[in-house]
Amino acid sequence: MKKTTFNRRRAVCWISAFFLISAGVWLLWPFHVFRQPYSTVLYAADGTLLGARTAPDGQWRFPPRTVVPGKFAEAVVRFEDHRFYLHPGVDPLAMGRALFRNLRAGRVVSGGSTLSMQVVRLSRPEAPRTVAEKLKECLLALRLEVHYSKREILALYASHAPFGGNVVGIDAAAWRYFGRDADHLSWAESAMLAVLPNAPSLVHPSKNREQLQRKRDRLLDRLYAAGSISEETLRTAKAEPLPDRPADMPAAAPHLLEYMAKIRPGESVHSAVDASLQESLQALAVRYAAREAANHVHNLCMLVLDVHTQDVLAYIGNVPLLPSAYSPHVDIVRAPRSSGSLLKPLLYAAMLEEGSLTPDMLVPDIPFYHDGFSPQNFNKTFDGAVPAHRVLERSLNVPSARMLQQYGYERFHSLLGKLGVSTLNFPASHYGLALILGGAECTLWDITHVYARMADRLNRHVPSAADTSAYPFSAGALYLTLSSLAQLNRPEEESDWEMFGSSRRVAWKTGTSFGNRDAWAVGVTPDYAVGVWVGNASGEGRPDMTGIHDAAPLLFDAFRHLPATAWFREPLDDMVEVAVCTESGYAASPLCPHPVFRMLPRQGTQVPVCPFHVEVTLNSDASYRVNTSVVSARDIRREVWFVLPPAEAWYYRQRHSDYRPLPPVHPGAVPSVSDLPVSIIYPQEGSTVILPLQGDGRPGELVVRAVHSQPSAVLYYHLNGRYMGCTAGEHRLAVSALPGDYTLSVVDEQGYELTRHFSVR
Ligand SMILES: [Zn+2]
Repeated sequence: MKKTTFNRRRAVCWISAFFLISAGVWLLWPFHVFRQPYSTVLYAADGTLLGARTAPDGQWRFPPRTVVPGKFAEAVVRFEDHRFYLHPGVDPLAMGRALFRNLRAGRVVSGGSTLSMQVVRLSRPEAPRTVAEKLKECLLALRLEVHYSKREILALYASHAPFGGNVVGIDAAAWRYFGRDADHLSWAESAMLAVLPNAPSLVHPSKNREQLQRKRDRLLDRLYAAGSISEETLRTAKAEPLPDRPADMPAAAPHLLEYMAKIRPGESVHSAVDASLQESLQALAVRYAAREAANHVHNLCMLVLDVHTQDVLAYIGNVPLLPSAYSPHVDIVRAPRSSGSLLKPLLYAAMLEEGSLTPDMLVPDIPFYHDGFSPQNFNKTFDGAVPAHRVLERSLNVPSARMLQQYGYERFHSLLGKLGVSTLNFPASHYGLALILGGAECTLWDITHVYARMADRLNRHVPSAADTSAYPFSAGALYLTLSSLAQLNRPEEESDWEMFGSSRRVAWKTGTSFGNRDAWAVGVTPDYAVGVWVGNASGEGRPDMTGIHDAAPLLFDAFRHLPATAWFREPLDDMVEVAVCTESGYAASPLCPHPVFRMLPRQGTQVPVCPFHVEVTLNSDASYRVNTSVVSARDIRREVWFVLPPAEAWYYRQRHSDYRPLPPVHPGAVPSVSDLPVSIIYPQEGSTVILPLQGDGRPGELVVRAVHSQPSAVLYYHLNGRYMGCTAGEHRLAVSALPGDYTLSVVDEQGYELTRHFSVR
């Protein structure tokens, strides 16, 4: 019997211990109070709210704050739970008083809930309001107090309390009702928000509002009685009217907000956006869009980056307030579009970097055929040979394609990836040489960052410090490239740009895609990078729309909204001095007259030597080229001539009247192959020509193109030995050819003959 009592006592001890330990574990177990979704909120650098999206459950519930604004904290504690800092989560005195009042009234008029208990209830919105639930609330409130400080509990309350309609939390409420952040609320505003969670429906405009004002004023009286506010403050606070209808949330950067909602949902994003710049560029975008609409161009976007941090300073994803038919919701900053000529400066920099190019080096500008690809310059003409920096300034397509052929499109494709162009979704062979002419797509986001990084890398160059980064361009190549881009002719509106001096120097490039679908302009200074795109979101092109005419003016207007900046420092320690031929831009040979010294990137020592200044042997009056087979060595004149290859010379001469073609070879002299005055441009040796059948089933025609160093020359054409015709002036001859292998021979009046082997498919 005694043993049984002993056993029972022991069991009671064990069970009690078990419950005590369980209660302890339960109290101490990690406690995440809220699992509600939050709004994505975007702030500018100065804390201005740029915009917010409702949480996925449709509530304006800003991400929770950790500190409650002082006035609101004081007001809400005074109103809801004035022993908040004294009780352990449950206030027996308040509960007793509530029970007494409820019994006397015969219904529930007071809950006696502490702020801690209210936090628990807010976290369990679906829980029924029963006595059992109330007990559970008390236990959870005790547990809450174990895990959170009073300050944290107050912050949880402020962030999750209902403020009428779908407004949850003090931050959303402060913006919706007062249009400012909760840290800058007045006493009247704080008091109104403190009484609102108790009866959130009072905020709706109706006769309730008088009741709301009475509640607010009673709380203000209590704050005065407690010594929290002065009599003067009480008077002015009571005179403050209640706010009108809830204001709309700002929508100052809707597309950036949309993007943030995707990558950082439910977060408060403190961006580097300059609120006033964003606002003025939005207004600028609206003005430009109105002008462009006359040409049925409806969309544009703009991006401004801080070069030093790559932070976004302004983000105009599309034209604000555009009719919905023109897709204003589409964020074009991140939409892949045909890149036009925007990639040309990157090839220029790459070739300067490896020492295969100098800014003044002549690049052939003659008809170009490669695997069925035959680019045209914008004005459909050829210059014969053009200095590389002019190729860039005039954005010439034909020399650019030739440069890419020399550099290699596979290498360039991989370089673009390293520079940050993320939209090259196909292998290099898919684009081929068209890669440099807009054959690839890029986004305004990527391309503006690519240019910003170029400026940033140049800014960061430290003299004599070894560059260990994997960035593909050295400071020297970047300086020459950006300097060349700063020379580009300004659009008409900017024709007086030089009057700004170096304070307004901008390195910039425009681009126009095939079919005039995209007009681009990108510019950088040592501090800012600006990207502009103009076009139709639908992809519809407009005949008159070009980068220079439609995007560049907006680019320069955007730069006017930015502080003036200095120009880049020339990184002389990262460059070498090279003697360069004035006429060809190649490294000067001993034959080049008047070489000049140019600062080039380190690999500039590899620049090829000028092949155009050659020594020729002439008869005494320089009317013929001769050799010792016709003139005695004593009578031969030796002169240095600037000689371009025949095809280049033919086009070059039309624009350069001072170009002196070589005198003809003396009829009696035996010419060498390099002396031949004839050159066949098309078809090329060993090539395969594909001629599609014409509508009537007959084979298409092949247009043979040739040039001759003498403008008056007549050329005679033979295909597989059969005479096809002759040409004078411009040497083009259309011939019909069935599939097969061919030998083409072109002969001039003096009997100089050139042959080509090709096949037709
Ligand atoms: Zn030369």
